[in-house]
Amino acid sequence: MPRVYLSPPHLSGREAELLADAIESNWIAPLGPHVDAFEAELAAVAGVGHAVALSSGTAALHLALVVLGIGAGDEVACSGFTFAASANAVTYSGASPFFVDATAETWTIDPDLLDRAITSRREAGATVRAVVAVDLYGQCCDYDALREVCARHDVVLVQDAAESLGATYRGAPAGGQGALAAFSFNGNKIITTSGGGMLVSDRREWVEHARKLSTQAREPVAHYEHVEVGFNYRMSNLLAALGRAQLESLPERVATRRRIRDRYVETLGDVPGLEFMPETPYGTTNAWLTCVVIDPDAFGADRESVRLALEAEDIEARPLWKPMHLQPIFASHASFGGDVSAHLFERGLCLPSGSSLTDDDQDRVVATLLGTRRSPT
Ligand SMILES: *Cc1c(COP(=O)(O)O)cnc(C)c1O
Repeated sequence: MPRVYLSPPHLSGREAELLADAIESNWIAPLGPHVDAFEAELAAVAGVGHAVALSSGTAALHLALVVLGIGAGDEVACSGFTFAASANAVTYSGASPFFVDATAETWTIDPDLLDRAITSRREAGATVRAVVAVDLYGQCCDYDALREVCARHDVVLVQDAAESLGATYRGAPAGGQGALAAFSFNGNKIITTSGGGMLVSDRREWVEHARKLSTQAREPVAHYEHVEVGFNYRMSNLLAALGRAQLESLPERVATRRRIRDRYVETLGDVPGLEFMPETPYGTTNAWLTCVVIDPDAFGADRESVRLALEAEDIEARPLWKPMHLQPIFASHASFGGDVSAHLFERGLCLPSGSSLTDDDQDRVVATLLGTRRSPT
C-alpha cells in the first residue's frame, strides 16, 4: 500500500499546460506575464488591493517588516504557537521577537494577553513596533480584538496567513485582516508552487517597496544604482504558472479538506479522550490540517504511541507545532503565557488531511488510530 502523506501536493490538471506556455514564451525568469497574472488573481481571491509574488512565505514576512522600517533595536510580538518561520523572519529584520500564547478556544494569539505583553515590554524599556499574528492550521486569529489592541498601542498588525488561504474571517477572505499579510505556497500548503509566497496589502506603496526590495533594490535608472539593501526574493515565472493552475482549484481544495475534517469528526467525534481543534464563531477554517488533542488516560494511548502506530502503517502524522517559548533558539526571549500551547504540543496530532486523501485511506487512518487504545480490562 502506498504511503499516506500528511498534506501532499495535489495537481489540478492545468499545471502542465500553463508551464508549457511559460516555457514556449521563453519567460524563464523571476518576472513575466504569469507572475503579473498570479499576483492579480491572488489579490482578488484574498480581497486585497496589491500583491507581490516572492520566493517563499518567509521572504514575504521578512519584507513586510522591512517595508515597515522595523529593524535593530525594535521588538515584535509574535504568536508563540506557530511554525518557526514566523519568528525567524523577525530576527532576519534585525528586530527581536517576544512571544504571546494562544487561547484554548482559537489556538491563535490571545488578544488580552497581547495587550498585557506589549505594556510589560514597554515598561521594561522595549520599543515594540509590530505584531505578527499567525492564522493556525487554516483558522484566522480574532482580528477585531487584535486590531483594537494594536490601535491602542500604535503597533502595526502583520498577518501570517501562510496556512489560511481560502479561510474566511467574518465573511471576508483571509489575508485582508492585517495591514500586510503573507501567504505561502510551500509543498505541503493548501496550494503549492513547490516553494513560493506572496505579500499582500491594500497600501500600494508598501507592496511596491517590497517589489523593489525583492529584486536587489535597483533604482529606476539605466545603470545599477542602489541606495538601500536589496534581496533576491522574487518568484519565477515558471512557478507563477504553477501557482495560477493551483489557485483555480482553491475553492474545491477547501471544500475537500473541510469534508475530510468533517468525516474525521463523524467517525471519531464521540471517542472519549479525543478533541478536535475548535472552529471559531467568527470565521470558517480552510481545514488545512485536521488536528486532534489526545488525553492519554481517557483515550487509552498517548499522542506519541498513536503517531508511531500510524507510522508503522506507513501513515504520516505530525505533532502540533512546538511553541516558540520551548525552542532552544528562542529560550532567552520574553514570553507571555505558554501553558496553552505547551499542552497542545504535548497532546496534539495533525492527521493526514491532503485533498487527494481517499476515503479508503482515511478509513485506514481511523482504524489504526482506534486500534492503539489499551483494551478495557
Ligand atoms: C509555511 C509557513 C510559513 C513559511 O512559509 P514558507 O513558504 O515555507 O517560507 C510561515 N508561517 C507559517 C505559520 C507557516 O505554516
